[in-house]
Amino acid sequence: MKPSSAFQLSVQVLTAVIMLGEVNGARGQEPQHFSPKGKMPSKFTIELQEQQRRVLPFNDKRDFEEAKRGFIAAPPYRKIMNDKGGVAWDIDNWSFLLKGEDYDSIHPSLQRQALLNMEYGLFEVVPGIYQVRGFDLANISFVKGKTGWVVIDPLTVKETSRAALKFVNEKIGQRPVVAVIISHSHADHFGGIRGVVDDAALAAGKLQIIAPKGFMEESIQENLFGGNAMTRRKSYTYGDLLPNSPYGQVDASIGKGVASGDVGIMPPTKVINDPIEEITIDGVRMVFQNTPGTEAPAEMNTWLPDFKAFWAAENIVGSLHNILTLRGAPVRDALAWSKYINEAMYRFGDEAEVMFASHSWPRWGRDRIREVMCDQRDMYANLNNQVMHLANTGVTINQIQNVYQPPQTLQKVWYDRGYHGSYQHNSRAVIQRYFGFWDGNPATLVPLSPEDSAPLYVEMMGGSAKIMAKAKELNDQGKYRYSMEILNKLVYAEPHNQPAKDLLADTYEQLGYQYESPSLRNSFLSGAKELRDGVIPVKAAKAGSTDFVRGTSTELFLDYLGIQMDSRKAEGMKFKINLSTPDNGEKFVVEMSNATLTTIAGYQATDADLSITINRSDLEDLMIGSSKLADKVAAGKARLEGNSQVLAQLASTMVQWDNWFEILPGTKQKVAEQPKLDLFDDDDPFVVEPPN
Ligand SMILES: [Zn+2]
Repeated sequence: MKPSSAFQLSVQVLTAVIMLGEVNGARGQEPQHFSPKGKMPSKFTIELQEQQRRVLPFNDKRDFEEAKRGFIAAPPYRKIMNDKGGVAWDIDNWSFLLKGEDYDSIHPSLQRQALLNMEYGLFEVVPGIYQVRGFDLANISFVKGKTGWVVIDPLTVKETSRAALKFVNEKIGQRPVVAVIISHSHADHFGGIRGVVDDAALAAGKLQIIAPKGFMEESIQENLFGGNAMTRRKSYTYGDLLPNSPYGQVDASIGKGVASGDVGIMPPTKVINDPIEEITIDGVRMVFQNTPGTEAPAEMNTWLPDFKAFWAAENIVGSLHNILTLRGAPVRDALAWSKYINEAMYRFGDEAEVMFASHSWPRWGRDRIREVMCDQRDMYANLNNQVMHLANTGVTINQIQNVYQPPQTLQKVWYDRGYHGSYQHNSRAVIQRYFGFWDGNPATLVPLSPEDSAPLYVEMMGGSAKIMAKAKELNDQGKYRYSMEILNKLVYAEPHNQPAKDLLADTYEQLGYQYESPSLRNSFLSGAKELRDGVIPVKAAKAGSTDFVRGTSTELFLDYLGIQMDSRKAEGMKFKINLSTPDNGEKFVVEMSNATLTTIAGYQATDADLSITINRSDLEDLMIGSSKLADKVAAGKARLEGNSQVLAQLASTMVQWDNWFEILPGTKQKVAEQPKLDLFDDDDPFVVEPPN
């Protein structure tokens, strides 16, 4: 491995993390179950769905009126192609939802939400404010200034945001983009920025990019350290592995799914630092409300006083959101979330005539806006307060999902239903935030791994045949969670027992059909699929990575190298490297000691084994992989002093992770060796940044 390989290898993983893949490619609809092993909903599942149809407030149709209000036009196309020739977006992947059929394989409340998210086209929010909805996971909004557009949240990929801008220009009149507002640090809100930003206008100072405090750092950091595992987990929770079908992926709660194509990021020209900050661009007055630590670590709402319009970013959508996103991220603060909604309600709620957001549909009129704000405020506050109330009575993280219930009045409003965030996993998340994983029982403090404990359970339960018989009996009674409990042990004990895996898959499948939350549904149905078929990697599109590498600070990158190296390969290594990047005046000591890589910024060691001097702009070429360190040295762009062998040592500790590691036992052929890494192989499966 060449000395520069450690850098290039890291960047390959770094870029893999932030790439958007073809997660919801054209699969078409299937009238039958897509899997030969798939099962229809059982009589228990059908009974539960029928019961939900009776008790849920289906006569409240305001969401449908709001989702359609202000409709201007839909484009003549239903499919948006990406620049690589693939499909970036195809709203017809979900056209089975438009047939007016009730599917017993979908929770009726979820089917309703999935239908609401099928709205597609250009909508007027109020005169002068427009939204394109149904082009991607999020909405893109356009505010008319004196001369141009203020664009709010330019979707996930260049291709969909470009199509949206073209469409609004066709329908409302051609205008230049004069500003782009980015609400927060999730890729479905900024990844498509290059589809609406004209580089010349930006260079000439005719275009502003405005983002909340911490935007660049958080956008990259949240997905960097755990990115490989996060992406794999996302493949379950977003249903990336599932066909779009009544038996598969039907919705993503806050949209249909994520578009596939070119994902970028651009640094803001103006950062909103104060809690409340007002600026005017092209005659559009905007009052920003920073809401850090809510749905994202860096996020902000915007009040547009001249339009009497409040834009709620992703803080108020048509769903309970995630306190803990199941793809994995630091747990969020439900109480802070509630407080920011409350502040927005008191500050802007009385004057607002419309509230719109980057997902779901707008709400019009003071009463409706206050109703939604109040119910969303209370939903997050109740989760925090009542879960902690119960925790103080001794209810633990392993029980709360079966104990906590939101208040009856909140259960009756659609936008407080548990779609993106389920009450089950969010209640556990609140306890996680305050107490962590341990329930206080020593038996769960340092437990055996499931694969170690399961054989003992199976032996003591009398073996596989008895477990299978009992699990079938439980399934025949509709007791799927009980059946899951014992089959899970059997599958861990006997990972190659396919009948056991198939029976567990059947169990997961009924549970998936029954759950209202797509996050839960997709996780169970994805588990069922991999138990039946094994792990089948999804080929994903590769997109431009340069933006993300340039956005990654040198220190963050060096910290990341410390994660990407395998400590077990570094036993006995001991060296120090000075790195300095004169063009930005930064310097670092990178030290390997005790098989651990650490970095300190602002220092140089007097006893370093190697000193590297290279401009940050040249270092970026190495990070991207467009150039090698040796070439930079040869070209006089980098200087090495000391023992360059330590770079080879460092490189030898670096590992490329398997993007498709096994989640459920016996679903993947174990590979004896690490896959051989080719740094320049364009066919590597690149993966997806989890958006929310
Ligand atoms: Zn979003």
